[in-house]
Amino acid sequence: MKRRDFLKASAVAGVATVYGTQLAAAQGQASGENGMPKLAPPGKPAELNLCLQWSGIPGGEMKEKLDFLEANGFGAVEIPSGDWPIKNGDALVEAMKGRKLFLATACGPSDFSYAEREKREAEVQKFLPIIEALGKMKSVGLIICPARGKLSEPGHLSGKELRKDFVENTGKRLAQHAAKHGTSIVLEPLRRNETPFLRQVADGARMAADIGPGATVMGDFWHMGLEETSFMGAFICAGKLLSHVHIAGLKERIIPGVHPEADQYVDGFKGLKLIGYRGAVSFEGGWPRNPADPKKDLPQEEKTKLILNMAKLLREQWAMA
Ligand code: MG
Repeated sequence: MKRRDFLKASAVAGVATVYGTQLAAAQGQASGENGMPKLAPPGKPAELNLCLQWSGIPGGEMKEKLDFLEANGFGAVEIPSGDWPIKNGDALVEAMKGRKLFLATACGPSDFSYAEREKREAEVQKFLPIIEALGKMKSVGLIICPARGKLSEPGHLSGKELRKDFVENTGKRLAQHAAKHGTSIVLEPLRRNETPFLRQVADGARMAADIGPGATVMGDFWHMGLEETSFMGAFICAGKLLSHVHIAGLKERIIPGVHPEADQYVDGFKGLKLIGYRGAVSFEGGWPRNPADPKKDLPQEEKTKLILNMAKLLREQWAMA
């Protein structure tokens, strides 16, 4: 493909202008030079769908929360995992009707590394009804962190043994169940102090590909800040398997925009544009200390201001990418 055709075909001409060199390299790959894999331009242009986790959305009632998201141009909503989707699924589907919002993921703790088969099995059984509820709600998927804790903790599998069991047994069965119900499991890489197992987006993408239908991967800018050498490269590695993104400040795990000098997402957003990402970019993190009283939570009106400030910052950086 000639450069001109490539640019015409690509819906991310903005990125192409800035990243002409990389794209030229990609074309070399597309034509088979260097034996490198082909980087296909996205079919549809990428889209920034800002998203908040349920507890962080201003407002008490379901309707009030959804109204806030819509009024402020957010594109998606993230809900808790556990029995929340089972208890609140029907009400949320009803409240979402006619709105320009989609239901992203459900987020909650999970661990599939127990050495005892019965414990791993109990974890699988726990998530099957949650996956069914998410399918019914047309959610993007259930976030899964396959293992927590330190390397070779007694009573836990790790390394190749865990990967084999997760890809061929626990993760595979959850993914198959998810595919059957029209949703997915979303593998989340964490930091090295949080997991001995899955830490990079490319590894998660490979695992999702090995599991097969119903398995996807996500990237969390906070974890990626420590574990990845390139935000853009990590997202490109995930490609079409990327179904969700978490975002937080890169200096502190709090809402982006408090340390604007550190909160630089343009490189990552370039990666998202190159793969035609249209999923959610969801804030997951805490809040700065209350300057009036560090022991007290920040007042809601201050949090709301910070949410709107984040939305502005992320939109500006998306436009720059
Ligand atoms: Mg996360």
